[in-house]
Amino acid sequence: MIDAHIHYESQPYTKAGLMKFVDTAQKQGLDSIMILEHTHRFLEWAPLYEQILGIDTAQDNWYRKEKKISIRDYQKFITKMRQEIFPITIRFGLEVCYFHEKERFIETMLHEFPYDFAVGSIHFVNHIAYDNAGFSKRLLWDQRSADQIYQEYYHQMEQLIKSDLFQGLAHPDTIKMFHILPDYDLNPTYHRIAKLLSEHNMYTENNVGCYYRYHHEDLGLSDEFLTILLAYHVRLLTASDAHFPKYVGFYINDAVKRIQKNAVI
Ligand SMILES: [Zn+2]
Ligand SMILES: [Zn+2]
Repeated sequence: MIDAHIHYESQPYTKAGLMKFVDTAQKQGLDSIMILEHTHRFLEWAPLYEQILGIDTAQDNWYRKEKKISIRDYQKFITKMRQEIFPITIRFGLEVCYFHEKERFIETMLHEFPYDFAVGSIHFVNHIAYDNAGFSKRLLWDQRSADQIYQEYYHQMEQLIKSDLFQGLAHPDTIKMFHILPDYDLNPTYHRIAKLLSEHNMYTENNVGCYYRYHHEDLGLSDEFLTILLAYHVRLLTASDAHFPKYVGFYINDAVKRIQKNAVI
């Protein structure tokens, strides 16, 4: 039982802070957790976000509202925690916002420290965040057709996989979160993504974040996408996308059962 996507951000970099995640994980029956941080928290990762700034003040404010910290603090914390013994397996990594034009920068940044993993995410379409309740509708969904948005989202996802920069691909269908669907059939796209993931030996997530954070009815991936990923034998990791310790392992049991059920079919 694993929770592959847990945001550390709410806690200080101390063992006591980390133990809050471990305690919930144990209560939920997990034996492995993957702790990560968003790259947008860190001063050193600022160059990754250059192209999303200056488009609209609402998006600028979103990026700037959080106090930026040095990635050295996170790296020191990881190094220290690796010397401790915990009752469950803990891996430490990063959730990186992928932009095709920033591949070399991402490569350099990932090589400067031995993280246990890096997971790549598509969080922006045409440099606009697609999931922000405050401005995404005005800046993206009202400006482009759903077909254009989905095509661009999955085009970037293919580039992300082909970059070979990451061990995993985060939440590969969160673009559905507002219940806006394209007119075209997504199945060929799902086949392409699944095939690429298996060729590039990458895992992806059955991430239930959309289910409890955005009230989407799918417990993670859509049935269609889940079935196709399993058919290509893509490694699927269950993930809560917890942003606080209390959500570690949230719905993971149900997500595991759902994968098993679909795998039998
Ligand atoms: Zn994400
Ligand atoms: Zn996340």
